[in-house]
Amino acid sequence: MMANIIDGKKLSSEIKQFVKKEVAELKDKGIEVGLAVVIVGNNAASRVYVNSKKKNCAELGIESREYALAEETTEQELLALVEKLNIDSKINGILVQLPLPKHIDEKKIIAAISPLKDVDAFHANSVGKIMIGDYDFLPCTPAGCMDLIHSTGVDVCGKHCVVVGRSNIVGKPMAMLLLHESGTVTICHSKTTNLAEICRQADILVAAVGKANIITADMVKPGAIVIDVGMNRLENGKLCGDVDFENVSKVAGHITPVPGGVGPMTIATLMKNTMIAAKLQNNLMTLK
Ligand code: NDP
Repeated sequence: MMANIIDGKKLSSEIKQFVKKEVAELKDKGIEVGLAVVIVGNNAASRVYVNSKKKNCAELGIESREYALAEETTEQELLALVEKLNIDSKINGILVQLPLPKHIDEKKIIAAISPLKDVDAFHANSVGKIMIGDYDFLPCTPAGCMDLIHSTGVDVCGKHCVVVGRSNIVGKPMAMLLLHESGTVTICHSKTTNLAEICRQADILVAAVGKANIITADMVKPGAIVIDVGMNRLENGKLCGDVDFENVSKVAGHITPVPGGVGPMTIATLMKNTMIAAKLQNNLMTLK
């Protein structure tokens, strides 16, 4: 039996329709929603993401302002830009595209972003709120994954959820969101010794590693929900996830494709967060 393919494109366009409506209503109140997108250097993948974010802003009526800085930009210069954007009333959300060049300390830059404009939810303030369950901004990729899981109609409560990957931007917050919905959560990483065995116990399996085909069919419990966060560029230029889609889709109950799964949901959540930021800054919503 073939798994149900979870359509991230369709779900993300529904979220974006909702955001578009909200943005238009804000405009009627005289509030323009604005996102600053900062990119440093010439990372090809970052360029693709930034272009896509700008395109989505334009579609939804959000003003986007791009700051494309040279690779040689110093940490001080970048910090000065963030400070300027923090007090710019036309900017509701600040997105600094990662990774940054090696000579810039990412942690310092993230810490400098005003928590009120932290639409990526990377700031320690946002992360702390996620930990205690009081979020203003949900981290974009994990929130998108939760929406994909919800779309299957399966209740997370009591399920064994296995998250492969423990990064601050995907794995860790993902595990926390699953825990908030009363999943029993296991987090795996590169030092996990029995990955296949643990994955096989998962009712909900989230792969966020960055290695093509690391999740194979023998690692998946029949009927499981498989969410593939990975984005890997193969030598032939094709994009693929962390999951061996062809074979895992014969075992899983629900599976996300790459592309067309988690990727579009990440961007839709970013758009939603930017709209929420505008509401917070205009006192149309209160901070948690
Ligand atoms: P990181 O490189 O920061 O983290 C990767 C994680 O995978 C680490 O925790 C690492 O463990 C773990 N890992 C590495 N090798 C293994 C292994 N053999 N077995 C088990 N775990 C392993 O990546 P990100 O979290 O930033 O991103 C993960 C993937 O998701 C990437 O492909 C990225 O491109 C993609 N991505 C996709 C997004 C989307 O919108 N679709 C958004 C963000 C990311 P350890 O901590 O021990 O090193």
